[in-house]
Amino acid sequence: MSMFGYAGNILKIDLGSRSISKLSTGDYADRFLGGRGIAARLYWEHAPAQAAAFSPENTLIFATGPLAGIPVVGGSRWVVCGKSPTTSPEHFSSANLGGNWGLALKSAGYDAMLVQGKSDQPIYLLIQDGTVEFKEASAFRGRGAIETREALKADLGNSASVAAIGPAGENMVTFATLLADNDAVGSAGMGAVMGSKNLKAIAVRGAPGKKMPVARPDELRELTTRFSGFGTELMSVVGTMQFRITGPQTEKAPCYGCLGNCLRRNYQPASGQKGKFMCQPATFYRPMAEGYYGPGLDVPFHAARLCDDYGLDTMALSMIVLWLYRCLRAGILTDADTGISTSKLGSIEFIETLVKKISLREGFGDTMANGLLEAAGRVGNGAGEQIIRYLSKAGMPNITDPRLYVTTEMLHAMEPRPPQVQLREISVVITRWIAWLKGIPNINVSTDTVRRIARSFWGSEEAADFSTHEGKALAARMIQDREYAKECLVLCSFLWPVLDIANSDDHAGDPTLESQILSAVVGNNMDEGGLYRIGERILNLHRAIMVRDGHRGKEDDTIPDVWFSAPLKGDAVNPDCLVPGKDGQPLSRRGAVVDRTEFDRTRAEYYHLRHWDAGTGLQTRDTLRELDLDDVAEELAQRGLLRDQT
Ligand code: SF4
Repeated sequence: MSMFGYAGNILKIDLGSRSISKLSTGDYADRFLGGRGIAARLYWEHAPAQAAAFSPENTLIFATGPLAGIPVVGGSRWVVCGKSPTTSPEHFSSANLGGNWGLALKSAGYDAMLVQGKSDQPIYLLIQDGTVEFKEASAFRGRGAIETREALKADLGNSASVAAIGPAGENMVTFATLLADNDAVGSAGMGAVMGSKNLKAIAVRGAPGKKMPVARPDELRELTTRFSGFGTELMSVVGTMQFRITGPQTEKAPCYGCLGNCLRRNYQPASGQKGKFMCQPATFYRPMAEGYYGPGLDVPFHAARLCDDYGLDTMALSMIVLWLYRCLRAGILTDADTGISTSKLGSIEFIETLVKKISLREGFGDTMANGLLEAAGRVGNGAGEQIIRYLSKAGMPNITDPRLYVTTEMLHAMEPRPPQVQLREISVVITRWIAWLKGIPNINVSTDTVRRIARSFWGSEEAADFSTHEGKALAARMIQDREYAKECLVLCSFLWPVLDIANSDDHAGDPTLESQILSAVVGNNMDEGGLYRIGERILNLHRAIMVRDGHRGKEDDTIPDVWFSAPLKGDAVNPDCLVPGKDGQPLSRRGAVVDRTEFDRTRAEYYHLRHWDAGTGLQTRDTLRELDLDDVAEELAQRGLLRDQT
């Protein structure tokens, strides 16, 4: 059966028995769409409850979406999902990557790949011509992810796409990454999960560039033309403009088929290899390096590349650097304790020592290799206090917190790790509104435009008033449903959703475009509501996985205590802490805390909108049945984790 938008197969691999089989994508596509949706369903079906992240039972899923291979729209990203070791307790989580590897997998005939078991020795997988080979990888043990990728490409030819891990992944550093072609990095500790399975790399010989069959090509052409005419150079990228690196030694490095009007760029130092240099990884060591050496990009680039090669998440590492510095300054740790010279902070030597010690679990590096929260606990003596106010859940940087943007209360509360793509819907709009307030040319997100965006994307005009909780539970629900659906399509967050349009009359964006593009590609007639319903289904499936694994509902649906008590001091992206208040009047949130009574009331309203049990936050049978998740309801009921009515 021909399925527009899909390759048609899901590859299933057991590393322990070295067996392979196939599932039909057709059994999953209608209800779960692709990307994070199909991955969540495969995890529900194949991973036992409470499988530990580093156990052979953990199920690692690599998945593309139905828009992979469609040029211009930024839909060739892909996800890696499984039980993540980054949080305590561990949670099912996902990493989202760009580059070309996902499309290579799809063009090799597979929409997704599920990996279970553990190999008894280091291996890599080679997928080509409809076959899967289990190849000996002992020779790559201890080698960097970039080095491994380049070595495999030299051996297999440049047409091979390679996703590999570095030493941090092999040593199961909980925040280890995987690195794929075009330097696409996957976080959530998925590199460590690969390492726990003795899986060093996955090489795919597909045919990126092969034309993907489309159901209604004329309609798609009209839609992509309209989309590319929106002025995407300035779309959601403006919200993260401070991360943009440009200059004579930089060039665009777009993911497959994308126009690349984003931060994704390569950098080439005067001497040395070119590599991707963008966004947070490009900036995490820059202030320290500039403090040590003076202005320049080479040292920050070298730091980012080192992290990619060893396989460390720069977001997590940046918090460790800050924590170390504060602990040393407070006299809680000394250079002798850590074996790292603080006086060299900002130097190449400092970052090399730190990255190597953590990745190889050498000395104090082993203390830090299970993440910041565990390290602080092991050091004790007030080490946690040094960092707590900088953290959101799971020990990651505190960004877009609800003391500044009230809407993000429920987004932070409902997810075990910071839901970056959901948070961006708020921060991008407000950042653009602030730019409009300041009179920056070509920025058209006026107060009226924010109201229009609130009506179309957040459910009510009340959601544009950030001085009150009114309309915020509904806004959170709409943002989540849309973003979960987007992660099934695996559309890029730099481009989607189209919240505002520079060159239109009212500058408000178009929330219907994603469903129109999907319909043109796969040949159905899905509207915006239908797409959000899929998002709602996936969110509920995701929650069912968490509850089956031990999430306690209401008790865990919360935010860090410090946000209820510590007044907001500032925000790196929005230093004046400005938001639109009543009647659109600019309001500074500096000094604000989250009101616990209002938080509890909003959470109750959120449960009501989700049709979850008000008392416990657990899902109900009717809700799951209405979302075509009857078997999920049945299993939760057997475990005593379902309520019959709200
Ligand atoms: S906008 Fe940038 S990150 Fe997003 S798909 Fe395009 S090239 Fe990749």
